[in-house]
Amino acid sequence: MDRPRTRKSSEASATALGGAAAPGGGAAPGEASARSAYPAAVERLIAEFARLPGVGRRSAERLAFYILKSDEPAAIGLARAIHDVKKLVKHCRVCSNLSDDDLCAVCADPRRDRSRVLVVEQPKDLIALEQTGMYRGLYHVLMGRLSPLDGIGPADLTVDDLLRRIDKPDDNPGGTKVEEVILGLNPTVEGDGTSMYLAEQLKKRGVRVSRLARGLPTGSSLEFANRAVLADAIQGRRSM
Ligand code: ZN
Repeated sequence: MDRPRTRKSSEASATALGGAAAPGGGAAPGEASARSAYPAAVERLIAEFARLPGVGRRSAERLAFYILKSDEPAAIGLARAIHDVKKLVKHCRVCSNLSDDDLCAVCADPRRDRSRVLVVEQPKDLIALEQTGMYRGLYHVLMGRLSPLDGIGPADLTVDDLLRRIDKPDDNPGGTKVEEVILGLNPTVEGDGTSMYLAEQLKKRGVRVSRLARGLPTGSSLEFANRAVLADAIQGRRSM
């Protein structure tokens, strides 16, 4: 966000960014156009693009020009897709996966093994696991991980929903009792801390707790693996 200061219009872009965030957003663009070479509406679009992750001022300008050049149905289609994703997509009431309905496609599918729940941090982790086609149980999306330094505790995640599914089988799809919880958090310090916390809560409830295997990635070489990966691989070895 500090990068755009290379232009003479550093102040203008700052105003535009501030303006975009301002409620209503009606008054600010006019103010921005006083100093920007772009018409107010274009400046506003650039400012909005520049707020996206990984998009700098230059890329934002390129995207804005792409929109300007594209035909109206394509541009309106993009605007509508953004609108719909905010208005229509919700979180599954059981597992917090992204969904069009109250219950996501995984929870609603009676062919899944509903006695098994795989816990992940984010919906995109669930999607990555689904794409393997190797897992036929249900999921639970925590919507983050515990991070005491950032003030993120269990109440900021969907931990209560997970424990309720286990305590009350009626809250799990099909009224099925959860027998096993698989912890699929990222192998980071915070992910491990969250796993430990959850394992403690889950074991109290008599449910079987396991963790996704970690160690050497398929197709890699021992000589290029770092010490932490090798240590995980030795600890997680399997008989054959
Ligand atoms: Zn669900």
